[in-house]
Amino acid sequence: MVKPIGVLSLQGDFAEHITALKSASFECKEVRSIKDLESCFGLVIPGGESTTIGKLLSLTGLNLEIKRRFKSGDLKIWGTCAGAILCASEVISGNPVQSLNLGDYSITRNAYGNQLDGFETMLDFNEEFKVECAFIRAPQIEDLGGENWKVLARHNEKPVFAINENLLISTCHPELYENVEFYEWLKKWFFERS
Ligand code: GLN
Repeated sequence: MVKPIGVLSLQGDFAEHITALKSASFECKEVRSIKDLESCFGLVIPGGESTTIGKLLSLTGLNLEIKRRFKSGDLKIWGTCAGAILCASEVISGNPVQSLNLGDYSITRNAYGNQLDGFETMLDFNEEFKVECAFIRAPQIEDLGGENWKVLARHNEKPVFAINENLLISTCHPELYENVEFYEWLKKWFFERS
């Protein structure tokens, strides 16, 4: 049986991620509890409100379980927008965010302004293909700690997609567009095991 990729479905645009993953022929599963996560091979932490998702992660106990499985090398994670905020070691924010602290980097919340300052753009991804994305009250990655990070895409010089072993982070929403090549890349990344 093919193991599913979980999509954290506590708050935010999890439904859009599931639609995009399914149209790229992923098996996927909504994750709201530790039990839901059990069978998952990887996890998408979607965009939304990082303060709210952080609180719900603690309430459900998923925070500790995600950390445990990630640290043991058993779970690949793609954190995007609020998801990238929740994976950071340092969050620059007016309000405290209960981050999972999975990757060594700092990130600023709402770095591009408010909802009306949102924009769409095409990114060059790893010099391989283009990814169409929306930036919606997006955070900005400030500092990637250590040399194990690889930047996969930039916007105005700043990293907007980066990868470090089992952690992929991004600050935008590719799931809202038909990004066939990106999802092919994502499938390879999720399912390759070293
Ligand atoms: N502004 C949101 C936050 O700080 C993130 C926005 C998004 O996920 N698109 O949590």
